[in-house]
Amino acid sequence: MSKSEVKTSLLDNMIGVGDMVLLEPLSENSFIQNLKNRFDHDEIYTYIGTVVISINPYQSLPIYTADKVEEYRNRNFYELNPHIYALADEAYRSLRDQDKDQCILITGESGAGKTEASKLVMSYVAAVCGKGQEVNKVKEQLLQSNPVLEAFGNAKTVRNDNSSRFGKYMDIEFDFKGDPLGGVISNYLLEKSRVVKQPRGERNFHIFYQLLSGASDDLLKRLKLERDVSKYNYLSLDSAVVSDLDDGANFRIIMDAMKTVCFMDNEVQSVLELVAAVMKLGNIESIDEIIVLVGSFYWTDLKEICELLGIEQIVLERAFSSRTLEAKQEKVSTTLNVAQAYYARDALAKNLYSRLFSWLVTRINESIKVHWLFSKKVMGVLDIYGFEIFENNSFEQFIINYCNEKLQQIFIDLTLHEEQEEYIREGIEWKNIEYFNNAVICDLIENGILAMLDDECLRPGTVTDETFLDKLNTVCAGHHHFESRHCTNSQFLTDHTLPHNCFRIQHYAGKVLYCVEGFVDKNNDLLYRDLSQAMYKARHPLIKLLFPEGDPSKMNLKRPPTAGFQFRASVGTLMKNLQTKNPNYIRCIKPNDKKAARIFTETLVRHQVRYLGLMENVRVRRAGYAFRQLYKPCLERYKMLCQQTWPHWRGPLFALEKKRRECLEVLAAVIQKIYRGWKQRKHFLLMKKSQVVV
Ligand code: ATP
Ligand code: MG
Repeated sequence: MSKSEVKTSLLDNMIGVGDMVLLEPLSENSFIQNLKNRFDHDEIYTYIGTVVISINPYQSLPIYTADKVEEYRNRNFYELNPHIYALADEAYRSLRDQDKDQCILITGESGAGKTEASKLVMSYVAAVCGKGQEVNKVKEQLLQSNPVLEAFGNAKTVRNDNSSRFGKYMDIEFDFKGDPLGGVISNYLLEKSRVVKQPRGERNFHIFYQLLSGASDDLLKRLKLERDVSKYNYLSLDSAVVSDLDDGANFRIIMDAMKTVCFMDNEVQSVLELVAAVMKLGNIESIDEIIVLVGSFYWTDLKEICELLGIEQIVLERAFSSRTLEAKQEKVSTTLNVAQAYYARDALAKNLYSRLFSWLVTRINESIKVHWLFSKKVMGVLDIYGFEIFENNSFEQFIINYCNEKLQQIFIDLTLHEEQEEYIREGIEWKNIEYFNNAVICDLIENGILAMLDDECLRPGTVTDETFLDKLNTVCAGHHHFESRHCTNSQFLTDHTLPHNCFRIQHYAGKVLYCVEGFVDKNNDLLYRDLSQAMYKARHPLIKLLFPEGDPSKMNLKRPPTAGFQFRASVGTLMKNLQTKNPNYIRCIKPNDKKAARIFTETLVRHQVRYLGLMENVRVRRAGYAFRQLYKPCLERYKMLCQQTWPHWRGPLFALEKKRRECLEVLAAVIQKIYRGWKQRKHFLLMKKSQVVV
């Protein structure tokens, strides 16, 4: 047996190393081997310093019990086996005791376990923070907002049976004692195209199936629905039943959760009426060349939709069959052709559903918002849709992947860039560690592709997906991360195998081919005014609220910003918000593509370890110091350990140099107690410009 084989087999026999910083020898292979060893022993969490790597076990492990919560409560981060609870505890205690706002950044590709991780963090914090009737009510509301939003915003995809199709950031607000007061949820661009069409093997949003499966006969009758999924064109059939999802039981859970979050009965009824109306919209079909309104489906469904929404049938019929254009202050009505009529129908369904979703978030926020104003501490939990590469990638994947680029950017900024800068600033000897900075891709997307798309969408004249791609080919030619069939890449080569209507981006997590079909339309996100006006005329209280632009007195309102523009702006605000908080990272890894327990596909994990920059992360951590604290909090925390700084210490009033000396005294006293002859061990600690590093 060779030396290296001996080493590998030794590593094989160990459960592994809990913190990669201590892994010897460190290489990509040993890193992955360590993850595998731990995963095989159901140790799904591993640290890189304070970063938690989490591997989706695809099975329920007995590691989230009340006893585990007690075990991790108030314990030092490194004291116990790596666990997501340790991270949650550390973040919560820093927030409560050191008054530092926190954010939990959870990243990883679709199906890697982000949403589960965010719920585990929230439930841990709920378990360890204050008790009492009022506090418990707040906790329940915060926790129960999850199933409601998941029902309306998650769906089965080929990657994940419960895939988040929207981005979510939740600020949980605490008082000075660390008791939760409430929260605020921000949602990011729901993938609304799913409402009318789903890729093969995928489903529409859960709520549609849950409603049909779980509602009582009486409720279905009131909503004018039939229980049979196959009756609804918008609901895909090939995967209507997902083995590990119990739609019926989940419907009852959602109804209870809505009650807990304080939805009134009439609000729940309104929400379900809208869901039913959306489902039935898909059944409106015209069977004639031009939209002559015939067909049995058409009549019954249209009539029932109008009854559900409280709209005069003639108003909706007109809005589906004609369109009013304004030219030189004159109104001209044109008849829609079949394609336009279908377009109008689908646009209405998508808008109804996505506006309903945003309304749900607003409504939940009303329930959980903090009503009184005093200083509060905040813990933000970010759970977005993960990086996606499908067979066909469109505007939605482009937006999702852009969001993931931005998150990767913040990780790079704070853990790789900022950390190295700090060592240099503090005058600590430092050998630079190279890493891939994806700022260049963020720039390509924001200032290249999205900017160009907006320019096209706002340009007068004929604008199509093709004209958009033509412009991209010119503007992005030669960019290292952009390729298309008609555009030379950075090596001045043109890939003639690429389809005509596509462009390819080399993302931080891999190459993705995007088809431009629908980009202009989805970015414009326009609804014919006749339809918004028809909705505004509805007697249904919620519908009227969802289509304010249908108000005739607001006819001259400016064009709303494009979807891309809004998304970019909200991601920008989010990034700024995150940068004001102390970040805690959970890097989720998907162990296999089969959604199966106990399978660890090495190549798949290796790919994720690479693009997540985990090796660079561990190298920076290893080269640096594990413990750092500014002099002032260090003295405040440990002053009682040393005669010179206790009991008459008034350190915070003194200059930095004095604090530095006092810190040295405290540490000397501590180390002297631990080691005799501590002077020989001086290399353990460094007193740098503003902080102690050990
Ligand atoms: P997406 O980006 O598609 O929303 P995601 O990263 O949020 O994906 P999750 O929905 O959290 O992925 O996880 C996918 C599935 O994996 C879960 O539905 C669950 O079955 C399983 N899973 C994830 N984490 C755990 C865990 N800690 N324990 C047990 N099962 C888990
Ligand atoms: Mg998710």
